[in-house]
Amino acid sequence: MSILRFKAIEIIGQRKPIPVQVPSEKTSNFYGINVFSTQIMRNYLTKDAYEAVVKAIQSGDTIDRKLADQVANGMKHWALSKGASHYTHWFQPLTGTTAEKHDSFFEPAENGQPIEKFSGGALVQQEPDASSFPSGGIRNTFEARGYTAWDPSSPAFIMENTSGKTLCIPTIFVSYTGEALDYKAPLLKALHLLETAVVDVCSSYFDKKVTKSHASLGIEQEYFLIDSAFFWARPDLILTGRTLVGHQTAKGQQLEDHYFGSIPERVYQYMLESEIEALKLGIPLKTRHNEVAPSQFECAPMFEEANLAVDHNQLLMDVMEKVAKKHNFEVLFHEKPFAGINGSGKHNNWSMITNTGVNLLSPGSTPMNNLQFLTFFINVIKAVYEHADLLRASIATAANDHRLGANEAPPAIMSIFIGSQLSDVLRDFENNSAKPGKDSHSVGSINIKKIPEILLDNTDRNRTSPFAFTGNKFEFRAVGSSANSSSALIVLNTIVADQLKKFKTETDALIKKGKKVEVAIAEVLRQYLKTSKKICFEGNGYSDEWVKEAAKRGLNNIKTTPLALDAYVSKKTQDLFIKNGIFSDIELEARHEIMLEQYVKKIQIESRVMGELAHSHIVPAALNYQKKLSDNVVNLKSLGMSKKTYQTQLNLITEIGEHVSIIMEKVEAMVEERKKANNLGDTHKTALAYCNKVKPHFDTIRYHSDKLELIVEDELWQLPKYREMLFVK
Ligand code: ADP
Ligand code: MG
Repeated sequence: MSILRFKAIEIIGQRKPIPVQVPSEKTSNFYGINVFSTQIMRNYLTKDAYEAVVKAIQSGDTIDRKLADQVANGMKHWALSKGASHYTHWFQPLTGTTAEKHDSFFEPAENGQPIEKFSGGALVQQEPDASSFPSGGIRNTFEARGYTAWDPSSPAFIMENTSGKTLCIPTIFVSYTGEALDYKAPLLKALHLLETAVVDVCSSYFDKKVTKSHASLGIEQEYFLIDSAFFWARPDLILTGRTLVGHQTAKGQQLEDHYFGSIPERVYQYMLESEIEALKLGIPLKTRHNEVAPSQFECAPMFEEANLAVDHNQLLMDVMEKVAKKHNFEVLFHEKPFAGINGSGKHNNWSMITNTGVNLLSPGSTPMNNLQFLTFFINVIKAVYEHADLLRASIATAANDHRLGANEAPPAIMSIFIGSQLSDVLRDFENNSAKPGKDSHSVGSINIKKIPEILLDNTDRNRTSPFAFTGNKFEFRAVGSSANSSSALIVLNTIVADQLKKFKTETDALIKKGKKVEVAIAEVLRQYLKTSKKICFEGNGYSDEWVKEAAKRGLNNIKTTPLALDAYVSKKTQDLFIKNGIFSDIELEARHEIMLEQYVKKIQIESRVMGELAHSHIVPAALNYQKKLSDNVVNLKSLGMSKKTYQTQLNLITEIGEHVSIIMEKVEAMVEERKKANNLGDTHKTALAYCNKVKPHFDTIRYHSDKLELIVEDELWQLPKYREMLFVK
C-alpha cells in the first residue's frame, strides 16, 4: 500500500523514545552557557567597554564606536572559544518569524595570513539587503536598503546547529530613512515611553526613590505536537500549519483526561531536550504540562524584562521546532490546528516593576489602602477600555480569527476580568465619595471595610477572559500562539503609558487648585472607574449572554481581521502613536498594509491547498470507493440478486456522488472568488473579499469532505485522521 497515511502509522509503531543526555544534574551548571551575559563580559571586555555595555543596558546610553570595537573584539573571542565560526544579526521582521543572515568571522587577509575578524562596525550595524521582507511600500517609495542595528539590552547568544555554531546579535531592523521594519524597534520605544510615565507618576506621588522601572513579562506558550510522519502526509499542515479538513474523533477532549495528565515518554524526552537547549540560551523555563486538548502542551518561563522576554519567546519557538525534528515530532504553533478541540494561545503575563523592587500591580493585603496599586490598576483598566479596538487589532491574524470570533471560538470582545475581591474593592472605592456624611475629600477617611487578605494564587481565575488580572499582573490571553508578542505589547505599553501621562496631567491640575495629593488622585481615579468599568466582566466570556450583554454595554465584537485592523489607521490610534513618537503615520499605514497583505496571502494559500486536497486526495478516495461499490453492485446484479441486496450500496453511491459534486462545485466557485478578489486592486477590499467571499467556501468543502471521510472505506482514505494524529504516539 503506497498510501502515506499507512506508511506513517507503520513508522510510528516502530518509534522509540530518544533518550536525552542531561549536561549536568544541576541546571545552574549549564543555564546561560551560550549567552554573552554581563558576567561573561567581565572576562572578555576591557573595563571601559564593560561599563559602557552595562550602562547601555541599564539606562539606554549609546555606546560609542571605539568602545563598540572593543565589545566586538571581546564578543568574537568568546564566540570563537565556544566554537562559533559565523556571526549574524538576529532580527524580527514583520513576517512574524526571526531572521538571520550569517557572515563568517574568517577573512583572507592582505598579507596572506587569514584571520578571524569582527569589528565594532559589524557589531553595531549591518546591511542585510533584506529587501524581500515586508515593508508595506516604505522601501519602494524611499530607499531599498534596510539596516539592522545592535540592541545591547538583549545579550548576544550562540545558536548551536548540528553542523556548526553561530554568534547571534539581537538587532532592530530599520529602513535607510529610519522607519521601523520590525517588531523590536517600536517595542523598545513603547517600553521607554512606559518607563518614563511610570517613573513620573511614582516619583511625584508615591516614592521619590523611584528613578527607573520596567515592564515585566512572562509568556506562556501553548503548542501541539504531532508525529512528523503524519505531518508529512498532510499537505495542509505542511503549507498552512492547520488541518483544513478532518472529521472530529469520537474521543476528543471531553473526558478532560489529557489536561495536566502524565506526559508520554517520547514527548517527555522531547520536552527535556528543548528545555535544556532553551536553558543554555538563558531562557528561564519553569513549567511544562499537558494542556486541555489531546496532544496539546504548554511551557512557561519565569518572567523577565519585557524586551528580553519577547526575544526569548521568539528564540524558544525556534529551539522547540528544531529539537522536535530530532525526536520525529513537528511542533504546531498555529492557533487552531484542529477543529473541534481547543486552540492555542500565548498568554502574556504583564506588570510594571520599579527599581525599588515594587511590583506596581501587587495589591498587597489591603488594596483599598494601597493608592499606588489602585492608581496603576485603574489606569490599566481605563487604557484598555479606551483602546479596546486597538488591542483587538494588535492580536488580529487570519489564524487567530479561529480562536476569536469564529463559530466555535470565544467572542472577540475585549473585556477585563479582575476577580470578585478586587471588584468589591473597586466598587467600594468608587462609591465612597458618593456616600453622604463622609468626608469625600480625604482618602484617609475612606470607609475601609475589612478586606480579606488577597491571596496571590490561582483560586480566583477566569479562563474565558481575554485580559485577566491574575493576582499581581494582567494576563493578556487573547494573543495567538504563533504571534510575536511585540505586536500586542507595543500597543499595551503605549496605551498604558499614554493613560498614565493623562492621569498625571489631570491630577496635577487638581493639586494646583489646592487639593491634597491623595484626594486629587482618588478623585481622578473614581472618574476613570465610572467611565471605564463597563469593560470589566466577571462572567463566562464564552457565553452567548455575554455577546448580548457586551453589545448593550457598547463594547465592540470585531470578528474578523480585515475589520479589526482598521483600528490601526483610525484617527484615535494615529494621535496616540504619533504624539508619543512610537510610529509615524507612514509606519502605521505601512504596518496596516502589511498585515492586510499577510491576511490575504494566508487565506489564499489555504484556499489553494484546499483545492488541491479536494482534487488529489479527497475526491479520488471517494471515487475509488464509489467504483468499488458500483463494481460490487454490477456483480450482484449479474448474479441475479434482488435489488434489496444492493439498495443500500446504491444509496451510498448516490450519497458519495452528491458530496463529490458539491465539493467540485464549491472548489470551482472558490477559485472564481479568488480571481475576483485578486483583481480588486486595493488591499483592504481584497482582504475583505478573501474574508467574506473566499473563506466561507472552506466550511462547505470541509463539511462534505468530512462526511466522505466517515463513509469512505478506511483503507482508501489518504489523509491521516484526527484520531491518529492526536492519539498515536
Ligand atoms: P497559569 O497557567 O496559571 O497562568 P503559569 O505558571 O503557567 O500560570 O504562568 C504564569 C506566568 O506569569 C509565568 O511566566 C510567570 O513568570 C509570570 N508572572 C508571574 N508574576 C509576574 C509578574 N509580576 N509580571 C509578569 N509576569 C509574571
Ligand atoms: Mg496557563
